[in-house]
Amino acid sequence: EEIRKSYYLGKNELPVLKGVTLDIFKNEYVALMGPSGSGKSTLMNILGCLDTPTSGSYILSGHDVSKMEDNDLARVRGKEIGFVFQQFNLMPRLTALENVAIPLIYAGIGKKERLEKAMAMLEKVKLENRADHKPNELSGGQCQRVAIARALVNDPSLILADEPTGNLDTKTSIEIMDIFGAIHASGNTVVLVTHEEDIADHARRIIRLRDGVIESDRINQKYVVTN
Ligand code: ATP
Ligand code: MG
Repeated sequence: EEIRKSYYLGKNELPVLKGVTLDIFKNEYVALMGPSGSGKSTLMNILGCLDTPTSGSYILSGHDVSKMEDNDLARVRGKEIGFVFQQFNLMPRLTALENVAIPLIYAGIGKKERLEKAMAMLEKVKLENRADHKPNELSGGQCQRVAIARALVNDPSLILADEPTGNLDTKTSIEIMDIFGAIHASGNTVVLVTHEEDIADHARRIIRLRDGVIESDRINQKYVVTN
């Protein structure tokens, strides 16, 4: 509701989001588009509770995020939201399996169960045969599948992905979009940032930001059924 976000560089205010109001409903599949610098990542970070708005309110599952206690916020970040980044953000010294298991450490799950759950997630993204590989021994698409498995391992209901195919070739992007299609079909809410119309056509609703405001918000007539 009326989300505004400014960054401050010394005394200089840089207004980035200039009053964004929107509702995203359970099990929606939304593509967020807009020119570079329009505020997409800024908005995604707020939706993911990685950053807070300068003003306005963000109500997540009925709770005002700005009024949440720190430990509630940590639980929401770790268990209710899965975040996928363009740059994968994997830990370089850990194997694929260990990377996927990280959120389970914070969830307080014992090691044996962690590795079992992480392995089951790697199977879902068809990477069980790469479990012991480090990120630098994996292709970009494989790294992104590891990152998706990690985002999903706690079974979050909201999946946020900021240009998840931005560093991938077309064929690999399609594989990744098939995974998001399956995630959505299994009942999750998906919000995904992309610059590419083909990728956005996997979503049922397309929101366009321009200069920190919503330029358009409409049902996607070209919605591609992936599952
Ligand atoms: P892109 O498509 O290039 O990823 P975007 O729509 O995601 O762009 P944002 O990353 O949200 O854009 O950035 C919006 C504006 O805010 C840009 O002008 C950027 O330089 C600025 N900005 C982003 N993060 C910060 C920060 N941490 N501190 C200061 N300015 C920032
Ligand atoms: Mg961005």
